Amino acid sequence: MTTLDDLPIRDDLRGRTPYGAPQLDVPVRLNTNENSYPVPEPVVEAIGKALAAELRDLNRYPDRDAVALRADLAGYLGHGLTVDHVWAANGSNEIQQQLLQAFGGPGRSALGFVPAYSMHPLLALGTGTRWIPAARGVDFGLTADEAVAQVREHRPDVVFLCSPNNPTGTALDPAVVAAVLDAAPGMVVVDEAYAEFARPGTVSALAVLPGHPRLVVTRTMSKAFGFAGGRLGYLAADPAVVAAVQLVRLPYHLSALTQAAARAALAHRDALLGTVTAIMEQRDRIVAELRARGHRVADSDANFVLFAVGASDAAPSPGAVDQAAAWRTLLEAGVLVRDVGLPGWLRVTAGTPTETDAFLTAMERVS
Ligand code: PMP
Repeated sequence: MTTLDDLPIRDDLRGRTPYGAPQLDVPVRLNTNENSYPVPEPVVEAIGKALAAELRDLNRYPDRDAVALRADLAGYLGHGLTVDHVWAANGSNEIQQQLLQAFGGPGRSALGFVPAYSMHPLLALGTGTRWIPAARGVDFGLTADEAVAQVREHRPDVVFLCSPNNPTGTALDPAVVAAVLDAAPGMVVVDEAYAEFARPGTVSALAVLPGHPRLVVTRTMSKAFGFAGGRLGYLAADPAVVAAVQLVRLPYHLSALTQAAARAALAHRDALLGTVTAIMEQRDRIVAELRARGHRVADSDANFVLFAVGASDAAPSPGAVDQAAAWRTLLEAGVLVRDVGLPGWLRVTAGTPTETDAFLTAMERVS
C-alpha cells in the first residue's frame, strides 16, 4: 500500500497530521463550538426558496466578487462599513488562508499567542509561512506589554489575535489590539469568530478599523448564526486589503448556492441570532456550576468554556490530572467535549439546557 511518505510531498508536510476534531455520532456533541440549535423552520423555507431560485442558472458561474452578499454582510456589521470593506469566503478558515497567501508565504512569518485557534499554525504551514508560537501570560491572559515585547522581538509579517480567544474563551482588552497594531510591522488579523457571544462591554476591533489599513477583522456565520454547514466566513478591513485577497482567491470560490443561502440566512438574522442569549445563559451556567464544584474555569465571552478537570486546590503541575482520561470518561457518558492538548484542561461548547444537564451530570464522574 502506498503511504504518504512514499509520495514526493513537500518536506515541511512530512509527518504532519491534518486538523481532526473527532466527528463522532454521540448524543451530546459539544466539541466544535457549533450552535446546537437547528435552523428554525421559517429560515429553512427561506433558504430553500433562495436555493431553488438559483438552480436554473447553475450553468453559469456565480458572481466572482459576491457583491450582493458582501453588501449584506457590511450592513450586518454596521460601523459605517460598505461592500468595499468586506470580503467573503468558505468559512473564516478560507479567509485566513487567503490572508496568509497574500501577506505571508515563503520567507515570511506569522505569529500567534498560544494556546489559540489551532488552525492558525496549520494555515501557516499550508501556505509556507513560518509560524511563531508566542507565549501568553498568567492564566492564559495577554497584556499589551507581553504582546508588544514578542511582536518587537520577532517582527512577524502577520500577527494573529483571537478575541474571544479559542480555546480559552476570553475576549482581548482593546488596549492589546491597539498596542499590537502600533508595534507590528505587518498585518494584524483579529479573529472574532465568537464576537456575538461577548459579554456586555466587550469592544470589537471593528471600531478601530478607520485609519488602520493593516488591521483585518475576521468573522464567521458558523457560530452565532448556526450556519456552520453553510460555510460562510468574512473579513472587514480597508478596501486595499480586499484588493489584496482578490489577487490570491480562486475565481468563483463562493458557489452561487452558498451566496444565496448565506443571503437568505442574513435576511433572517433575528431568527438565527435569537439563540445567542440562550447559549450565553448556558455558558454562564457552566462557568458558575464548575466553579462552584471547585474547578478552575477561564472567563468566557464565547459559546464554550475552558475548564481544569481537577479541582482548583489540586497541584497545578502539568499533567497532574489527565484530561485525556477525563475526555474518555465524558465520552463514555455520551458527551463529546474537546481535548485541545492543554495538560489538565478540557473545552466544552455551550449548547441547549438539556446538553448542559447531560454535561454537568457526566462531569460528576470526573474528579
Ligand atoms: N476562528 C476561530 C477562533 C474558530 O474557533 C473557528 C472555528 N472553530 C474558526 C475561526 C473557523 O470557522 P469557520 O471556518 O467555520 O468560519
